[in-house]
Amino acid sequence: MGKDKSDIIRSDTSVIAELLGKSGRHIALLIHVNPDGDAVGSALALVNLYRKLGHHPAVVSPSDYPVFLKWMPGTESLINFKKQPEVALDVIKQADLIFALDFNDLKRVKELNEAHQAAQAYKVLIDHHPDPDMAVDCMISDTSVSSTAELVYRFIIDTGMKAHIDKDVASCIFTGIMTDTGCFSFNSSNRNTWETVAELLDYGIEKDRIYSQVYDNFSANRMRMLGFCLNENMEVLQEYKTGFIWLSRKDLDAYKFEPGDTEGFVNYPLSIRGIRFSALFIEKEDHVRVSLRSKGSFAVNTFSRNHFNGGGHLNASGGDSYLSLHDTISRFKELLPQYIDQLNDYNE
Ligand code: 5GP
Ligand code: MN
Repeated sequence: MGKDKSDIIRSDTSVIAELLGKSGRHIALLIHVNPDGDAVGSALALVNLYRKLGHHPAVVSPSDYPVFLKWMPGTESLINFKKQPEVALDVIKQADLIFALDFNDLKRVKELNEAHQAAQAYKVLIDHHPDPDMAVDCMISDTSVSSTAELVYRFIIDTGMKAHIDKDVASCIFTGIMTDTGCFSFNSSNRNTWETVAELLDYGIEKDRIYSQVYDNFSANRMRMLGFCLNENMEVLQEYKTGFIWLSRKDLDAYKFEPGDTEGFVNYPLSIRGIRFSALFIEKEDHVRVSLRSKGSFAVNTFSRNHFNGGGHLNASGGDSYLSLHDTISRFKELLPQYIDQLNDYNE
């Protein structure tokens, strides 16, 4: 997000507080495909909270979530559409309330899109991506916050439930903030974020343990895949202040890829002196997944929207390419000259 103008949409939450006043509500917490720590943390914070209050919450995800988040309290409530499609659709259909967390467009929930639209439930969106484009009854959208998890914390307070926050709820919120700020290295210059973390510490969260569970939880194969990538599959184009890495299906198979293994890979080229735009290309079965990151004002959400049918934040975005891996990389390189002025308009 960085220097993005912040856009805040904050609907009245009194109807939600009223709905949740009666116990036994069925609550679906919908998160985006390939969910990250912020999506899972936001959803599980609400799962733990609402369970305590006698409701029936369940997280519905379009795909599996990374191994390094499986320690989180409440993960057994997560329904993976890929494994249990009927259950996932049924939870959405039967829900009294549906929360959409950490995404701004129903394209991000893939096959669950229609189910969300058709559902009769009261619909809430809590998110921090720019330009939300979804029909909901209550929208809480703020691009100035570190993460959706930070917004969830405020939402819990706004709906009068602060007294029910416990260590589990606080741990989930902390995980969301920690992962979406790259351990407080970006999107965390606002004092509200640090005040939120200070309050979370008061609930007894084990900050160091959470860090370790998330960042010291990789398989040896994942570490070797990263080493391989940096050695063999990285190209640095200093003239465009750009670096990128790629992984073919053969590479992924060779290192026994598991969901979450490539999390963070896209950031590595940005650690090279002078580089301010990085990309990661991952060959999937029928497309190439594109991840983009930048430093400063170079808008990778616009780049992704214009060329890879995607979107995201100013400094972190993603999209898809339907060319081969080789052709996707060639196309990416061909695009750079038209951005040379923007890429060079940067003082370190
Ligand atoms: P990642 O590179 O981690 O997959 O995605 C980075 C960020 O870009 C995500 O947090 C999300 O905000 C956004 N993003 C990723 N993929 C897409 C996409 O296909 N469409 C849109 N609109 N946003 C995406
Ligand atoms: Mn997020």
